[in-house]
Order: sequence, then structure tokens, then C-alpha cells
Amino acid sequence: MPLAFLKPIQSNFILTKGDDLNEHQLIREFFSDVGSNFLSEQGIVLGIGDDAASYNPPDGHEIILSCDTSIEGVHFFKDQLVEDIAYRSVAVALSDLAACGAKPCWFMVSLTMENNDNYWLSKFSKGLQEIANEFRIPLIGGDTTKGPLVITIQVGGIVKKGEMITRAGARAGDLIFVSGTVGEAFLGLTQFKNKALVKKSVDKFIRPVPRFDLRNILLRSASSAIDISDGLAQDLQQICFASNVGARINFDKIPFPKNITFEEKKHILSTGDDYEICFTVHEKSKSDLLKHSDGLIFSQIGYITQEKDFIIENKNQPLDISEGYSHF
Ligand code: ADP
Ligand code: MG
Repeated sequence: MPLAFLKPIQSNFILTKGDDLNEHQLIREFFSDVGSNFLSEQGIVLGIGDDAASYNPPDGHEIILSCDTSIEGVHFFKDQLVEDIAYRSVAVALSDLAACGAKPCWFMVSLTMENNDNYWLSKFSKGLQEIANEFRIPLIGGDTTKGPLVITIQVGGIVKKGEMITRAGARAGDLIFVSGTVGEAFLGLTQFKNKALVKKSVDKFIRPVPRFDLRNILLRSASSAIDISDGLAQDLQQICFASNVGARINFDKIPFPKNITFEEKKHILSTGDDYEICFTVHEKSKSDLLKHSDGLIFSQIGYITQEKDFIIENKNQPLDISEGYSHF
């Protein structure tokens, strides 16, 4: 079946400031081309332009799906660059695929916005194009409506049949690892709010990176995994809950950013936005993990227990921490 590419109705259509595009024109102008170079390599049979898209996954694979909504004032701020808002909305959705060991294949955008501001939309489209290029994923559909600014991203990826990494595979004795550092995004958010821009941390809040670079080692070694969106403590407890086990964490082993206070560290355990990956590994797979780490940075922070308690130990005392982020 031929690939369907949506072409502008008028090929000589030139957008000028102040043009008021209707819904279909703006979809053509700002969305129909995003990541379109990757349609065929990702097995998209039909992209934007019909009632639905059509996708043909490679033989022997299963499709992994996830969806995330980003809301102004909760996930992003009005004074951020529009490109960054678009990029971040897709990145956080992709992060769930990364945690499952999936290869990303495509995404969809449901956009509710106050008005059809061409300038805003062109920046939004640019941010989408940037992340589409980075991960070679086409935009294959979505929805456009009027209302308070809300961005919902659906993402699709693949794993070989039966290879999805879930939260439910942790077993007593497994070692617990976390990638990168935890808390950089929290520092970034604080700096952003204080307008003190220190690039690295701010970047981690503004443009979190879905950790697909960990995919091979996760598929090789992880018994369970989760991306840290709501705080290390809360997210790791999700693994414990799904796997019906407990965990014991050594506070000193958690890879916090340098030069922060004890109180900040405690706070970071229940704040999210880092989109690093917390994963467990059978003890016997540890040497294999380290052998294949290939320069990737992760820290061993504790182990899984049969007893269902969740304990973060600091100087042999259990640490009292607040709950992680919850929308309600
Ligand atoms: P319908 O009314 O049948 O739901 P639409 O007119 O809403 O269809 O959408 C037409 C096409 O444009 C569809 O392929 C849809 O997936 C796509 N689309 C609509 N809004 C967006 C968007 N914000 N981003 C990407 N594709 C979109
Ligand atoms: Mg329809």
C-alpha cells in the first residue's frame, strides 16, 4: 500500500502574519510535515490526513503505547520558549517508552489552545520537529481544539515479543540502580523560577532527555524498571507494589547533584521531573551489566527485600520522607 503524504491544498500557499487559519489549514501548515522523513522507516502506512493513521509494526514485535498530558502551570510555564514546551511534552511521554525498553516509533499530538496564533504554532511545530528528528519519529496524527492550553502526547514504540520491561519483575535480592543524577531537574526548576539560569540543571528541567541510550543494557539486564517522573521514592515504591516486594535504599548512595543541603536531598526524593530510570537487576547479572555499561552512568542504591517495607536508610536510621508528587 502506498504511503499517504498530506500535501497542502494550495501548493503556493504562503503564510503571512495575521492570517487566520482554520483548523484544517493549520494542521496542514504546522503538523502534517513533522518527522515525515521517518514515516516509511517506521512502518507508517498512513499518516496525518485521514480519520485515523495506520501502522504496520515489524514481524515478531509488540507495540508499546503511552500517553501523557502537559498542562500550563503544572508541567510547563507560560514564559518558557514555545519550542521547549513542545519538546518537553513529547520527551516526557517518550520517557515511559524508554523505561519499558521500547524503541520509539511515532507520536500523536492532541492540542487544545486558546487561539490559533500562527507565530506560537510555528514555534510549537519547530519544537516538535526537533524531537522528531532526534529520535527519528514521525508525527502521525492528533487532534486540535480550542480551550485552555493543554498538550496531550501519545507515543508508540516496539519491543521484540515478550521483551517489554515492566514494573512487576523485581525479586527479593535484586540490586537497585538509578541512572544519571537525581534532582538536577528540581534544581533547574528552582533556578528557572528564580531566573538564575545555570545551564545544565535548567536544561534538565526544560529539555529532559528520554533515556533510550540505556535501552540495550535494560533489555539485557533489568528485571524491572520505571522512569522517575514523580520522585525516586514514590516511583521505586511503584516497582515494589507491582512486584509485591519491599526495598532498602542507602541514602548515601543516591546520586544527588553536588553542593546541595540535606534538606534539599530529602525534598528531591519526592520530586520528579528528572526522567532518569530506576531499575532492578538480579545479583548474578550485575557483572554483565557493568561489563556492558559502555560509559553510561548509573549508581547502585540498594536492594529489593522479601519484606514489603520501603526503607531509605541514613546512617543506620530510617529516613522520614514526604510523599512524592500527586496531582490530587
Ligand atoms: P476528525 O475530525 O476526523 O477527527 P481531524 O479533522 O481532527 O479529523 O484531523 C484530520 C487529520 O489531522 C487527522 O489525521 C488527525 O490525526 C490530524 N491532526 C489533527 N490535529 C492534529 C495535531 N494537532 N497534530 C497532528 N495531527 C493532527
Ligand atoms: Mg473523523
